[in-house]
Amino acid sequence: MLKVCKFGGSSVAGADQFKKVRDIVLSDPDRRVVVSSAAGKRSPRDHKLTDLLYLCHAHLTYGVPGDEILATIRERFVEIRDELGLRYRIEDEFDALCAGLNRDTSVDELVSRGEYFTSKLLAEYLGFTFVDAVDCVFFTFDGQFDREKSDAAIAAALDKYERIVIPGFYGRSPTGKIKVMARGGSDISGALAAAAVNADVYENWTDVSGILMADPKIVADPRPIPKITFAELRELAFMGASVLHEDSILPVKEKGIPLNIRNTNCPEDPGTMIVENVAEEIEHDRPITGIAGRRNFTIITVMKRNITGTQVLRDALEILDRYHAAVEHITMGLDTFALVIATAALESNLYDVIADIQKVCQPDSVDIQDGIALVAAVGRKMTSRPGTSGRLFQALGQQGLNIRTIAQGADELSIILGVANSDFEKAIRVLYDGFAG
Ligand code: ASP
Repeated sequence: MLKVCKFGGSSVAGADQFKKVRDIVLSDPDRRVVVSSAAGKRSPRDHKLTDLLYLCHAHLTYGVPGDEILATIRERFVEIRDELGLRYRIEDEFDALCAGLNRDTSVDELVSRGEYFTSKLLAEYLGFTFVDAVDCVFFTFDGQFDREKSDAAIAAALDKYERIVIPGFYGRSPTGKIKVMARGGSDISGALAAAAVNADVYENWTDVSGILMADPKIVADPRPIPKITFAELRELAFMGASVLHEDSILPVKEKGIPLNIRNTNCPEDPGTMIVENVAEEIEHDRPITGIAGRRNFTIITVMKRNITGTQVLRDALEILDRYHAAVEHITMGLDTFALVIATAALESNLYDVIADIQKVCQPDSVDIQDGIALVAAVGRKMTSRPGTSGRLFQALGQQGLNIRTIAQGADELSIILGVANSDFEKAIRVLYDGFAG
């Protein structure tokens, strides 16, 4: 067995967290590859080192002294080193970095140092070999990952050293320069490493016990999802759930490697297992895996008696395309169709869009409704259960919630309901209480 573990910023925020990480890693000899973020917040009012490094670079750019910020960062690293009794003379390397900073220092180079130093400390503490991401994560000229080259380098490093720590979030461009990924990119580094070494599982350690069935800001104490498929996760993410970014899932999904989200602060919790297929449904009997939603959509309803064929719809879609407004859902009736679009995507173009639809489609009428929220109930088990949608609508109806639009994916993986923005939170709570809680 081989496990790749990625630890997020809160898991390596200070010496106490490092101790938890060490307990987790050393408790299982299969955990041989560790990918680390930069030290994050120790408390809600604390700062992530990556944020401080970005701030520091802004100071450099504008020629404002950033010494205090650098001193804060240095202090954080030295404190971790001293509290853990490590030998790494981080001051030497850190001070050399500071001495070399100038207006031309690239932002990527500077902000990558959060992951670099954190991982060096962690490697020593775990007794693992530090393998710099510039030597094993490569980009192509167009900014994509050079998967072949990266896979080979990561696999070779593990062959050579047996147990390794790789800093997340950055790699090397073909010109030899350091390049960082999007924020939160260590998740991607972890997935790349897991795919490169054909891990049996990719463990993503964070500060929650898995993906929750609903937003905890809306539903009090929602349950974690024990098992979810990549397809369900995608639907939830699309509908606004703050879960892992798709890019960070792709490398493991492609290889069929399960992804386990775990909590560094509660390592006994099993977390959420993300898998390609769930062979047997055993854990519980809930038809819904998770609930998510987004506010602020506009519905454009076009009515035209005896619309035959799809020409009118095609014309309307073409108009929206011209204004770069993505249509999220389409519902159709005999003489009407309705297009659901994020209000922000229409920006100031709404009236031009309507004018064009009127001119080209010659409808009997066009109706616009804004202030719509979409709520999605996602669940692989809905496919096999007749009556789930009926029960959903009944539950919402009983609470006096008016449903403005309904869409169901062809794969029956999700049911999406449009309600007024003002009913958004209530709708999520009704669905959770009735079907997920
Ligand atoms: N440290 C980086 C950030 O804060 C990357 C990461 O943590 O994944 O975005």
